[in-house]
Amino acid sequence: MVHNYIFVGPQGSGKGTQAKIVAEKFNLCHISTGDLLRNLSGSMKEKVDEYMNSGQLVPDCIVLNILKQKLDSNNCENGFILDGFPRNIGQANELDKIVKIDAMFSIEVSNEEVVRRINGRRFCSKCTTNYNIYVQEIKPKKEGVCDKCGGKLLKRDDDNEEAIKKRLEIYFKDTQPLLRHYNTIRINGEQTIEKVNEDIMKAIKMLGFFR
Ligand code: AMP
Repeated sequence: MVHNYIFVGPQGSGKGTQAKIVAEKFNLCHISTGDLLRNLSGSMKEKVDEYMNSGQLVPDCIVLNILKQKLDSNNCENGFILDGFPRNIGQANELDKIVKIDAMFSIEVSNEEVVRRINGRRFCSKCTTNYNIYVQEIKPKKEGVCDKCGGKLLKRDDDNEEAIKKRLEIYFKDTQPLLRHYNTIRINGEQTIEKVNEDIMKAIKMLGFFR
């Protein structure tokens, strides 16, 4: 049986962290459109970076193309978790034409907490590991240095105040309406990573993953 899930939540909600953990547990493909876009190269990267760095959504046709390529090239025989896609109803309609989605997990946190967490986000410039200086479980041992490879920790270019505000606005206007489009399970994201994960696992069990 194949299981296809969507994880949504405002930036800083921890949706990426949770998507990764759950995908590993069940051997599902973890597909983050944000990561796919960040890893582009050449002239396409320049175009996409402008949207990303100002907190805007990248045009649907670009994201859809990249996502379709990824789904075609990956053998996701157990299913997948889409992390950060779809972001609006147009993307959801296109997605529904190519795959069946079993459930959407909405990781919910307040605006104040989002701003605090995003300000604390860091990533390793060498091995891309993510950290947060305000979250005990993923705080680097030494400030500015990656625990795993010793690489320098940086802030994402799009984690600036203006872009954060813009992204929150877009999230409530375009992405939140999707909660009515799919079978959605709401998860309280203002708990420890472990507890949030526990709640997601309980919900997956109830969805019949273990049957
Ligand atoms: P994320 O890593 O999910 O926080 O995404 C970072 C940025 O990538 C977003 O602010 C958008 O600019 C872009 N992005 C990621 N996913 C999508 C999507 N499904 N549609 C449009 N833009 C996206």
